[in-house]
Amino acid sequence: MSTEKIPYKIYLTEDEMPRAWYNVRADMKVKPAPLLNPGTGKPMGFEDLTPVFCDELVRQELDNDTAFFEIPEHIRDFYKMYRPSPLVRAYCLEEKLQTPAKIYYKFEGNNTSGSHKLNSAIAQAYYAKEQGLTGVTTETGAGQWGTALSMACAYLGLDLKVFMVKCSYEQKPFRREVMRTYGASVTPSPSDTTAVGRRILEQFPGTAGSLGCAISEAVEVATSTPGYRYVLGSVLNQVLLHQSVIGLETKAALEKYGVVPDMIIGCAGGGSNLGGLIAPFMGEKLRGERDYQIIAVEPKSCPSFTRGTFAYDFCDTGMVCPLAKMYTLGSSFMPNPDHAGGLRFHGMSSTLSQLYHDGYMEARAVSQTDVFEAAEYFARVEGILPAPESSHAIRVAIDEAIKCKETGEEKTIVFGLTGTGYFDLVAYEKFHNGEMKNYIPSDEEIAASVAKLPKVE
Ligand SMILES: *Cc1c(COP(=O)(O)O)cnc(C)c1O
Repeated sequence: MSTEKIPYKIYLTEDEMPRAWYNVRADMKVKPAPLLNPGTGKPMGFEDLTPVFCDELVRQELDNDTAFFEIPEHIRDFYKMYRPSPLVRAYCLEEKLQTPAKIYYKFEGNNTSGSHKLNSAIAQAYYAKEQGLTGVTTETGAGQWGTALSMACAYLGLDLKVFMVKCSYEQKPFRREVMRTYGASVTPSPSDTTAVGRRILEQFPGTAGSLGCAISEAVEVATSTPGYRYVLGSVLNQVLLHQSVIGLETKAALEKYGVVPDMIIGCAGGGSNLGGLIAPFMGEKLRGERDYQIIAVEPKSCPSFTRGTFAYDFCDTGMVCPLAKMYTLGSSFMPNPDHAGGLRFHGMSSTLSQLYHDGYMEARAVSQTDVFEAAEYFARVEGILPAPESSHAIRVAIDEAIKCKETGEEKTIVFGLTGTGYFDLVAYEKFHNGEMKNYIPSDEEIAASVAKLPKVE
């Protein structure tokens, strides 16, 4: 154990950066349930998935046994442009809270796309390019994934078509322009350019769109355009695999100073940053080597873990995607338009869902104004303007640090600060003007969409 004072920022050298991603499924006794073909109800194999996804990514998706996947050198070189990301000791926050807790955060906002999503975007674009494809399609909600992928595709010379949830397309023109700067074409979803988009528009005229709708459109275009595949920025096993770089770096940085966390906290939309952050720690927990308290934080307006059902469901509203077994609010669940804090997906990663189901992690839901209060507090104390999504984790980290103050416990808390909030200032404006509402869906509302879950034996 080092006796040096722990610096404000712990960086790894380039040589200390991970050379392989870690696949937590290899250490799970109960593996996440397989994706099912929505037509036949049968598990989807390599041949079923490769018309939609790149070959190597399908291999990663289906592999529940290989613990480490080497990170190709080209991807490691790209990572070096913005990684390793700093692990920050939040001395200022600890001081302000007067807590005996020791707080660390892993900051993933230090790249133009402003979030962790670039870690998987570059990997997915790389495998598409290696396969000789000309382009990829995807959806984006708030815009971070689309931005990250447009950067990765520009770097590798791949075409990119993005379907952007209509309300974001209209509310976030700057995000859209960043994507176009990197050469992506951006279409508001639902659109009349796809059959599924036209069907959704007919069913829900004037809809502001949802991630689920945009996924359906992007998949349709990918499967009907030669040389194209579809890529997804969260939820899938492969995305959690790539994001393990976050957790591997965090663990290596902590080990440099002999620090062992008690508690690891992350926000959960589809589960990719949290899955990545906790991966190597969860591995130790699964192998019985060490115990950690792991907390997923989600919005009360879209509470997949805390109020959802563990069942097979569609990943998209158009019901064209494979079925995944996960905690879900039902694929027809649409978060209230007043919800501005991101993390709007109706389901959750199958891997995290299984781990949660088996008691390896817990979940908390927080309300929107509490999240923005924490965001503002954090910005004033630690300087970084956080993304609303990330601020869910900040909220619970602060709550836990305050508990430590009351009990006198010197817990070590690590949380994921997934990104910056410069493109979310309309939401901040609502908060500052006192116009932000805390919408919480009723039991009836959730029951109605859960009642539409597909019947699977
Ligand atoms: C997309 C995003 C999230 C949520 O996605 P996960 O897949 O759950 O990680 C969280 N924070 C930021 C900044 C994001 O862009």
